[in-house]
Amino acid sequence: MAEAKTYRNFIDGEWIESSSGSVYGHHSPADRGDLVGTFQDSQTADVEAAVEAAARAFRRWRLVPAPKRAEYLFRMAEILVRRKEEYAREMAREMGKPLREARGDVQEAIDVCYYIAGEGRRLCGYTTPSELPNKACYTTRMPVGVCALITPWNFPMAIPSWKLIPALVCGNTVVIKPATDAPLSAYHLVKIGQEVGLPGGVINYVTGGGEPVGGPLVRHAKTALVSFTGSSETGRRVSVACAESFKRVSLEMGGKNALIVMDDARLDLAVDGALWGAFATAGQRCTATSRIIVHKKVHDEFVHRLVERAAALKVGDPLDESIDVGPLVSDAQLKRVMDYVQIGRDEGAEPRLGGVRLTKAEYGRGWFFPPTIFTSVDPKMRIAREEIFGPVVCVIPADGLEDALSIANDSLYGLSSSIYTQDVNRAFVAARDLETGITYVNSSTIGAETHLPFGGTRRTGNGHREGAAVTALEIFTEWKTVYIDYSGRLQKAQIDNN
Ligand code: NAD
Repeated sequence: MAEAKTYRNFIDGEWIESSSGSVYGHHSPADRGDLVGTFQDSQTADVEAAVEAAARAFRRWRLVPAPKRAEYLFRMAEILVRRKEEYAREMAREMGKPLREARGDVQEAIDVCYYIAGEGRRLCGYTTPSELPNKACYTTRMPVGVCALITPWNFPMAIPSWKLIPALVCGNTVVIKPATDAPLSAYHLVKIGQEVGLPGGVINYVTGGGEPVGGPLVRHAKTALVSFTGSSETGRRVSVACAESFKRVSLEMGGKNALIVMDDARLDLAVDGALWGAFATAGQRCTATSRIIVHKKVHDEFVHRLVERAAALKVGDPLDESIDVGPLVSDAQLKRVMDYVQIGRDEGAEPRLGGVRLTKAEYGRGWFFPPTIFTSVDPKMRIAREEIFGPVVCVIPADGLEDALSIANDSLYGLSSSIYTQDVNRAFVAARDLETGITYVNSSTIGAETHLPFGGTRRTGNGHREGAAVTALEIFTEWKTVYIDYSGRLQKAQIDNN
């Protein structure tokens, strides 16, 4: 076990302690006796210092040519490639996702860095003719300014990279506030930024509690943009705070994702997809499959196979290569999941599998909960409507495609959806009619690729799409339209040529 270190904030190119000197210890969710590290428990004064540093650095960074800015990011990717295994192991220990999934999380950051580094030589605007003679028009992307990046614990390197890397290539400076439960992976990303020589103040990193750090960061007059990923409840608070000063804000929030299994589906594939979607990262993914809507004709056979396979999943230490499901991230998350299982029981549903916390000796030091399957769930039940964020899935029977689509769409959220069918007509109807930001056909609800837009409808988001896709540039730039009149006289649009 690696020795626990003390990690500092990174402000204006220096690693410094919080102004109050206060720190907190973060323990592994698989073993609460395992101290992963000690982090700064920051307050308003630390946020002030970080935002001021970012504002000063912005004056110079915005003028560095974008291809030069991109070179730093390319070099970050190369370091990440070399340290992928080390960072994946630390991530698994930090927040409990199984090692192979942690490798995937680091890989996302690598993919984002390489992809966005290429964007440094594009960042395309466009030119267009003017309606007047001897006049030129073009558009260009401008950086927004100081960006506040607020991230959750479930993708502790991937999600910070989705925000940090596009923000930097566009010429912004940032203050990143990682989740209290997973600050180490974001620290690694920031440290690499320092190693490749990013100028002081371009990236600032401040750890600590949600309201103590996130609150002043969101409200600060010099943060021009907030990019937030987390729960819809926190997202609402962030959004309201930003509305006060008309601050730009992009929100990526919760999900209640449905996977539909039609009567013509390949059931073996559908079971594979459902298991992966429901129980990967112990169900703690915004895109996790939390509702499985199954055609009545294949319902019993599907449920039989699903329960059998889920019962065989191995729960345990995320650093053990043979396990399938790790712990929940915290005691609070475990309590939330247990509360929802009880709510399900109170509503009249009974788990066909799981439903009771794992307490045997090998689980006693962590926050372990087994794969849990509720069957014959009524779509009106709370367990079928609210985000649980744990290894709990509801199976809901449906009469046919129309019924399945209507159940899937009857949700406050709209992140991801999936349909298993061999019928191309049904596949296209579902791709058109499922009201989510992402739809998969014959694949699970999880598995987004970084170069495509990522985000959702309704309470999942506020209209933005991130990932490394070109849509991320829409978040981190302002459009500027430039008119150049070389006629040597005053020309009046809409008037002189009519
Ligand atoms: P959370 O809302 O509790 O916290 C998210 C971040 O906000 C953390 O850094 C937290 O410290 C900070 N925060 C808390 N209170 C704040 C405040 N008052 N002001 C500013 N910042 C504050 O979410 P979580 O538990 O870390 O993550 C789980 C949630 O994230 C789930 O709902 C999940 O669906 C969602 N999520 C969404 C996506 C997506 O892209 N749509 C991706 C991953 C996770």
